[in-house]
Amino acid sequence: MTATVRRLIVHTVDVPLVRPFITAVRRTDAITAVLVEAVDSDGRSGWGEAAASWRVTGESPASIRAAVMGPLSDAVLGSELDDVDRLADHLAAAVIQNAAARCAVECALHDLAAAASGVPLWAHLGGRTNSVTTDMTLSAASTSELIELAIGHRDAGFRTLKLKVGAGRDDVHSVAAVRDAVGADVSLRVDANQGWTARQAIDIIRDWEDASVGIELVEQPVSARNRDDLAFVTARVQTPILADEAVWTSHDLSAIIAGRMADAVNIKLAKSGGLTEARRMIALAAANDIGVLIGCMMESHVGIAAAASLAASLGDPARAHDLDAGLWLAASPVDSGPHYTADSVVLSRAAGTGITGLCASGGRP
Ligand SMILES: [Mg+2]
Repeated sequence: MTATVRRLIVHTVDVPLVRPFITAVRRTDAITAVLVEAVDSDGRSGWGEAAASWRVTGESPASIRAAVMGPLSDAVLGSELDDVDRLADHLAAAVIQNAAARCAVECALHDLAAAASGVPLWAHLGGRTNSVTTDMTLSAASTSELIELAIGHRDAGFRTLKLKVGAGRDDVHSVAAVRDAVGADVSLRVDANQGWTARQAIDIIRDWEDASVGIELVEQPVSARNRDDLAFVTARVQTPILADEAVWTSHDLSAIIAGRMADAVNIKLAKSGGLTEARRMIALAAANDIGVLIGCMMESHVGIAAAASLAASLGDPARAHDLDAGLWLAASPVDSGPHYTADSVVLSRAAGTGITGLCASGGRP
């Protein structure tokens, strides 16, 4: 008999970062990991994470708890786990927005379904390898600090570095200086987090192109609210443009495709609301020759377990995804699950995500 969803539990764990994370819009020294544990009728637990950020997802630990314990529990408790995609649609119908909260519940259910099948989540999603490559993100910083960080990460084994730009500093100069410092073998990508105007974006990107700085891609150069600007930039530069904040779901992705507004898309589970919609987006992107990169919010190994499993399903282990969040944490809040080796996320070979529970020191139930 198929197991059913018996209970959802929200755990919050404060986790310090190893160094501050600074973007054009915020500075973070610690995260509150909001974890959802779904328990099935056979007593198994599945785990999912909701990245809480007022400014990015519009959600907080309190709002996530309210959504999970209220309408999202109502939508799935007692349901069989044989078709999690269907349950994801029930979750999506139960609340408007609240994508991170839905993501946490849905990923926990996928974990349970994979565990019940006795296979790792990455294999359950179609992956053939338990390892995926990640970039390493450098916070916004002075040029000399960026150079020092970049060299350190290169020497630690990272082959792709992501620079946060758009904070009003001299982005042209600082990125070129990092290129000079790290040499030609490191791939450099930049994320403006909507920080430029369209004209600024074109001028800056063309300066890098003219100077042969070698930028792999530019992420969300302009405001997500103005897709025309995104299309305007994409049409006027050679460097591939990656849409992030402008694309949450396949509905958004359809508009990007129709308007040829970007070359690739950063799919994050906290935007899509979980794996089911993310997989629909991957299929849509593939059918329309749009590149896909799997990204993450500032979240723990629980969120990374799901996102990296999705990345593994893409079947291109050399492609650098954007899954470095766990490397920023002083420690994982859970036992087992994924770990990092140089620039690889190594997923558990145990059934599901392999996560066995909260670390003894962590968690306020
Ligand atoms: Mg981004």
